[in-house]
Amino acid sequence: MQYPKALEDLISEFMKYPGVGRKTAERYAMFSVIDLKNESINDFSQALISAKEKIRPCNICHHLTDKETCDICSDGTRDNSKIMVLETTKDVFSIEKSGTYRGLYHVLNGALSPLNGIGPNELNLVSLWKRLEKDDVKEVILATSATQEGEATAQYIKRVLREVEVLVTRIGYGVPVGSNLEYADDQTLNKAIENRRVF
Ligand SMILES: [Zn+2]
Repeated sequence: MQYPKALEDLISEFMKYPGVGRKTAERYAMFSVIDLKNESINDFSQALISAKEKIRPCNICHHLTDKETCDICSDGTRDNSKIMVLETTKDVFSIEKSGTYRGLYHVLNGALSPLNGIGPNELNLVSLWKRLEKDDVKEVILATSATQEGEATAQYIKRVLREVEVLVTRIGYGVPVGSNLEYADDQTLNKAIENRRVF
């Protein structure tokens, strides 16, 4: 059985999303065409275009924002003596949702992975060193994931920061080895931050 081309095109678009296979994409496409009103389709496509246009990395921490500087960096009540280093902007949302951390963030946009051609230059590291030069940072909390790449990244940062007068800690307890932060629940995350150790 062959779908009409327009429907097939829509299915292909949905299949570009992570975790969406052929069957789910077909369901989404059918739902869009049969159940959604024209108005909803318009809202959906507008939301996609608008998010793509307006969302960009914060000029300080690289977290995604619709402003020049994100709400976290511009929030004067945050503890600017701490910077938590994370791999992705999704991790920032996870930590924020868990609710107890009040310091600042720095999003690397990945982790070191020589096999995939990701070296230090591919990550947001220079901007991190710069922040440590001029800001009043006392502690850098390494919260890269408990994978091989995340561990290598933490080690690399620790090595570079040996020459900088700053406390380097690593979260870990409670976050299972080999896992990403986004899959940890709030309580586990809070524990992991609370129980961070000198690295
Ligand atoms: Zn920011």
